[in-house]
Amino acid sequence: MIILRVAPDGWQLPKWESGQFAVLGLPESAPRTMLSDADPDRANSDKLIRRAYSIASSPDERGYLEFYITLVQSGALTPRLFALKPGDRLALGSKISGMFTLDEVPEGQNLVLVGTGTGLAPYMSMLRSELQCHKDLHTVVLLGARHSWDLGYRGELIAMQRYCPTFHYIPVISRPNEELVKWSGQTGYVQDLWDRGLVEMAMGTRPRPDNTHVLLCGNPSMIEGMIAQLSAEGFVESTRKEPGQIHAEKYW
Ligand SMILES: Cc1cc2nc3c(=O)[nH]c(=O)nc-3n(C[C@H](O)[C@H](O)[C@H](O)COP(=O)(O)OP(=O)(O)OC[C@H]3O[C@@H](n4cnc5c(N)ncnc54)[C@H](O)[C@@H]3O)c2cc1C
Repeated sequence: MIILRVAPDGWQLPKWESGQFAVLGLPESAPRTMLSDADPDRANSDKLIRRAYSIASSPDERGYLEFYITLVQSGALTPRLFALKPGDRLALGSKISGMFTLDEVPEGQNLVLVGTGTGLAPYMSMLRSELQCHKDLHTVVLLGARHSWDLGYRGELIAMQRYCPTFHYIPVISRPNEELVKWSGQTGYVQDLWDRGLVEMAMGTRPRPDNTHVLLCGNPSMIEGMIAQLSAEGFVESTRKEPGQIHAEKYW
């Protein structure tokens, strides 16, 4: 995974909200990282490959956008993004969009932010800007990854937990046997954390549809699994027509 900072060259970033995404692009002729699969068919074309990426930086940061990106070895764009060096140029769409924002969450609610891998990116933006440390309202981050070294922004999240008693960071890894140093934290998937009652333990109260909103971001199977679990407890997925307590952003 990489953290990539992209600065506009000769134009200003528009106003945007935490949780939204921008579009990055590189031509097919751009080199691919050696860590990826070869893709000889595309190597000579100047056609732009574009993909959406959630912004991890705060909207108050006006000079650049920060992205948190994982390598898809067989992918079209990420192997090219991973081959970039500091100072290289790439395309950044001038439009920043998306509905996965805190506008959808009413005041006075606990928040559970559930992510897999780079699905943490929009939450970092929210935590770095809009989310305050409340006395009574809790914010819980549940983050799933394969290995401990895939748990991004760990130092920043642990520091937030240290300084805010109502902020809770609960990481979980699915391949503890591959750890170099024995992992003493949670193992399995983020869905298991909910079942184990860890959110209730952290908040000191049971998360219910009338006191908690849940955001889900990243891997579609995690999102579908969590929606099934939450629906069984009375939570409803928010749609354009019908507001609910579950807000989801699928990455593919
Ligand atoms: C709104 C939105 C926001 C996104 N934000 C991010 C982000 O912040 N960081 C990020 O890394 N990706 C993000 N993505 C995914 C991103 O747009 C690309 O799909 C991804 O980088 C793969 O591009 P590629 O061209 O290398 O692979 P492609 O050739 O397009 O292959 C796509 C396949 O790659 C896999 N894949 C896609 N995204 C991921 C991922 N994040 N982790 C693991 N496998 C994946 C899936 O199997 C998918 O079918 C976001 C997608 C959406 C729709």
